[in-house]
Amino acid sequence: MKIYYDQDADLSYLENQTICILGYGSQGHAHALNLRDSGLKVIVGLRKGGASYEKAKADGFEPLEPAEACAQADVIMMLVPDQVQPEIYEKAVKPNLTAGKMLMFAHGFNIHFGQIVPPADVDVTMVAPKGPGHLVRREYERGAGVPCLIAVEQDATGKAFKRALAYAKGIGGARAGVLETTFREETETDLFGEQCVLCGGVTALIKAGFETLVEAGYQPEIAYFECLHELKLIVDLIYEGGLSYMRYSISDTAEYGDLTRGPRIITEDVKKEMKRVLEEIQSGRFAREWILENQANRPVLNALRRREAEHQIEEVGAKLRAMMPWLKK
Ligand code: NDP
Ligand code: MG
Ligand code: MG
Repeated sequence: MKIYYDQDADLSYLENQTICILGYGSQGHAHALNLRDSGLKVIVGLRKGGASYEKAKADGFEPLEPAEACAQADVIMMLVPDQVQPEIYEKAVKPNLTAGKMLMFAHGFNIHFGQIVPPADVDVTMVAPKGPGHLVRREYERGAGVPCLIAVEQDATGKAFKRALAYAKGIGGARAGVLETTFREETETDLFGEQCVLCGGVTALIKAGFETLVEAGYQPEIAYFECLHELKLIVDLIYEGGLSYMRYSISDTAEYGDLTRGPRIITEDVKKEMKRVLEEIQSGRFAREWILENQANRPVLNALRRREAEHQIEEVGAKLRAMMPWLKK
């Protein structure tokens, strides 16, 4: 794996260029502020009337209509939600994407799955911080940074990588380390991670554990604590020091149960199913399903959200969390 740091990156590749940040949400505000504090020329493209318009103004930007901002920019970073990017691209970006400009992303979905097809005479790159926007801003302000992924999909100018690396430096990412990847790798592993482990895998595991205890006659409140609430303690330990540090911190009883029972839960069959999920991602089947779902106004997502909201674990959870004044509303 190739990793780049501040000394490998040269901000001069972006000097005398105007960088347009489209969107001023989680990532948008952090990129715009960090790049500006790094001495680069930043403009913000936003619709009028949205909540973030006032926020950008309060931070000292004069937001422009997206199309106007794209017209003025040499570098355009797409930081609106992934599902609205194709529309904004068609309306505001494409008409102003002249030769030699650089179109940037913080996630590869729309390029990798062909929802946005830029002309051949522009650079297309990705700089994706591995953390939420508030962390990207906070770390920058204290002189540090959040590690980033970097990728080049299209190199029209011969300088695409250097320009993207300068951008990564501008947001503080090169202080921590910039890891080289491809749009394909970033997109497919991101989808796999959220489907099989981080979101899909974890929520299904929590629910199955909760249901098993409740069906065996234990009180739902106790099942909630054991199968959901305490997950945070474990994840914090894993995040800080990996699996071994977590196992060092828990009791020997817990560790023995972990090592002997865990593989009976996540079996070879589960891994086989993970491989099928990965295949659906790689073949574009998942992407097509999700794009069509959005075009149809999300009937499946809405139905599943409704059903999940009615699960007993949500009811019990709301009651128990009301007893925890330290939790944000
Ligand atoms: P947000 O959801 O925070 O983006 C919100 C911004 O987009 C607001 O400025 C909002 O303006 C604008 N916006 C929303 N809908 C529209 C619309 N229909 N038309 C015009 N503007 C609109 O996005 P994120 O920062 O979460 O994500 C941006 C990109 O970064 C994505 O590609 C994502 O995958 C990637 N990414 C996100 C990470 C994260 O931690 N969130 C981490 C790494 C990558 P308004 O106020 O007017 O609604
Ligand atoms: Mg994702
Ligand atoms: Mg316990």
